[in-house]
Amino acid sequence: MVIGAFADRGADLELVGIEKRFPGFTAIENLNLTIPAGSFFALLGPSGCGKTTTLRLVAGLEEPTSGRILIGGTDVTKQKSFQRPVNTVFQSYALFPHMTVLENVAFGLRRRKIGDPVAKAHEALLLVELDHLAHRKPQQLSGGQQQRVALARAIVNRPALLLLDEPLGALDLKLRRQMQLELKTIQEEVGLTFLHVTHDQEEAMTMADTIAVMNKGRIEQMGEPQQLYELPKTAFVANFLGQSNLFTGPVVSTTSTAIAVDVSGQKIVVPLERAHRISGEVTIGVRPEKLTLHADEPAYDAGRNTMGPGKVIDVSFSGVSTQYLVAVPGVGTLVVFAQNVAFGPAAHVGAEVWLSWNVDHGFGLDDDPA
Ligand code: ATP
Repeated sequence: MVIGAFADRGADLELVGIEKRFPGFTAIENLNLTIPAGSFFALLGPSGCGKTTTLRLVAGLEEPTSGRILIGGTDVTKQKSFQRPVNTVFQSYALFPHMTVLENVAFGLRRRKIGDPVAKAHEALLLVELDHLAHRKPQQLSGGQQQRVALARAIVNRPALLLLDEPLGALDLKLRRQMQLELKTIQEEVGLTFLHVTHDQEEAMTMADTIAVMNKGRIEQMGEPQQLYELPKTAFVANFLGQSNLFTGPVVSTTSTAIAVDVSGQKIVVPLERAHRISGEVTIGVRPEKLTLHADEPAYDAGRNTMGPGKVIDVSFSGVSTQYLVAVPGVGTLVVFAQNVAFGPAAHVGAEVWLSWNVDHGFGLDDDPA
């Protein structure tokens, strides 16, 4: 694959104490983050959490109320949008319908009179594997192909930073999954810094090196996808990145390696290095796929937590896995994902079951218990 002129690594982005207030509403509160050059960074959060506002601030389409924005070490806070080394790919890619694919990609270069626009446009199209369709019009392309043209257009002038605002949102699920992998591959090949905004946790986890989970204008937690999934710090992150079973109770003992929490009379152990709080009332949790169902109370095993008995109140089969809902008196309803039927016909609705999980798979939150 030709990468030639696109081999730059992009620039790092730094947001320092950013606040954005709209009349009567604070959309962003004291946002601080550093995105290293060449990384794929995802801002993940629910609708209205401030993702797009953050992106618009970086693009220069909004001005921060306070704080500074640095790209490659240069303070761009006061720069106009067109002065910043930044391009954006939006959900609606807005290709020019009367121009060919090649003209669409070369358009910005022609206007700025940079290098040989046609050669550069071909190079960008080769990168997104669309050069063979360079002479088609946008309406003669599929949605995924149009999206790749928009991407080629955005990277053709080698911005230091590429902003992606839900760029795959208009595609159907299957195409979206395919494009997620392609986008990640392209990012690795061009090596530019990508800042991607999405509300789709699977999308963020598939593509990003680092994810910042946003909630109500603040970053709740930032880290590598697996780290966030395995060790969420707050209930919001635990529930936004997949599903989780959360329990609350007092810490009843602490050793040099673990805490024990009394959850409605059941002693649950969490390793110290996986617990954000180690005394008082705490919230702890475990992911649904880490749970094992048992027809009888499991024999004591210091390496496993046991909970039960509970009653299966729902079973839903989804091909790859089966989801069980188990009501445990005094604790609540637990979700269990099993790759296949855990113990045959006993796991039907109404069955009495026990649950267990490896102590090393639990986690403790840093939230104040509700
Ligand atoms: P979505 O995923 O729905 O696009 P988002 O996380 O990108 O959501 P933003 O568009 O950044 O959210 O909006 C953050 C908050 O700021 C929202 O509550 C929104 O209503 C508010 N907001 C955005 N722009 C303005 C504006 N110009 N005036 C007032 N409030 C605004």
